[in-house]
Amino acid sequence: MSKSFSSRLIHTGDKFEASVSYSKTIPIVQTSVFAFEDVESLERVYDGSASGHIYTRNGNPVHDALNDIMSGVEEGEAALSYSSGMAAISLSLIAQVNTGDHIIAANVLYGGSFQFIKTELARFGVSVSFVDAVHEDLAPYFRPNTRVVYVETISNPVMEVIDLPAIAATAHRHGAKLVVDNSFATPVICRPLLLGADAVVYSATKYLGGHSDLTAGVVVSDKATISRIYATGLLFGPTLSPFDGWLLVRSLRTLELRIRQHSLNAMKLAEYFAGHPKITSVYYPGLPSSPTHGVARRLFRDSLFGGMLSIDLAGGERHARELLRRLESIKFVPSLAGVATSVSYPAKTSHRSLTDKELQKANISKGLIRISAGLEEAGDIIEEFDETLGKI
Ligand code: PLP
Repeated sequence: MSKSFSSRLIHTGDKFEASVSYSKTIPIVQTSVFAFEDVESLERVYDGSASGHIYTRNGNPVHDALNDIMSGVEEGEAALSYSSGMAAISLSLIAQVNTGDHIIAANVLYGGSFQFIKTELARFGVSVSFVDAVHEDLAPYFRPNTRVVYVETISNPVMEVIDLPAIAATAHRHGAKLVVDNSFATPVICRPLLLGADAVVYSATKYLGGHSDLTAGVVVSDKATISRIYATGLLFGPTLSPFDGWLLVRSLRTLELRIRQHSLNAMKLAEYFAGHPKITSVYYPGLPSSPTHGVARRLFRDSLFGGMLSIDLAGGERHARELLRRLESIKFVPSLAGVATSVSYPAKTSHRSLTDKELQKANISKGLIRISAGLEEAGDIIEEFDETLGKI
């Protein structure tokens, strides 16, 4: 033990002793780097002949736990976790395309993904065809250089369900990979890899996290694809903080229970809105009137249709703004999937980067409100909407 005051401050307690007991939950390994006894040990970790970690950007035990859970539930070969959904999405695409390649993407996507594909990939010489992946046949859009098809299981914000097995078959016939953003459905409801997708990506900030207190992203795929994404991600560097990773592991333990309750509440809300005179349309795949209800029934587990729905107000933009202003415990937040019910306004939040023409094409009106059904008693949520709608 060093004797000086500063050395004692720095070195006391910096060794972990072996013990007959261990932490019941995984520890937060809040370190940027790992220490080695000698160069030989470091070499063995690098060449894979010994297990261990080097530097948290390369990997951390918390990332390992998270990646194991996610590849396990998705039945994929391997997974990676990143500091945001956009990091997981952008890396998954960048790692699979080169200058001169072409991708096909759904024309209704989370605004950030849409913008990334339209502007950032274009800067690197990757062209894109945005296609109505719900109603159109994709086959005519393929080119010899089409590498990837990119869709969301449940499109944001009009909640149409994509026929993943059909799209996977078309993509594979043309030698392309299918990448699916499954953030709204989660693996509780749908597992795209089992339906033919080649990679599944998540904004774990949403339901996987589920408590509005972390930002993270995950990708699950086969080993070869994951190792390509890993190499790209190591250099771009969007490292998931061990603390956020730990929160995410904690959250995943209750994912199934939460998704069941979110889905039950969303269904009750959708049924309530469907009969309301101030609402012209309700977008929820659980409603038999939804154009993709049949696809959802075929692909989704246990008649669960997710916690997200949207409504179009007969009074258009004026009523939409007024509803957002007047709701009290239901907060206006430009995100989703927390334990509390919240509302968002896609035209001015998630999809604000779209032009008016693109908004129109994606069926996103200025009267459209997106609702994230929380875990409260459904009757309480309905009562608040009912009282507020009565005032506008
Ligand atoms: N995918 C979907 C469907 C989203 O809704 C979002 C964010 O709202 C993202 C991806 C981006 O994720 P993040 O905000 O974690 O980067």
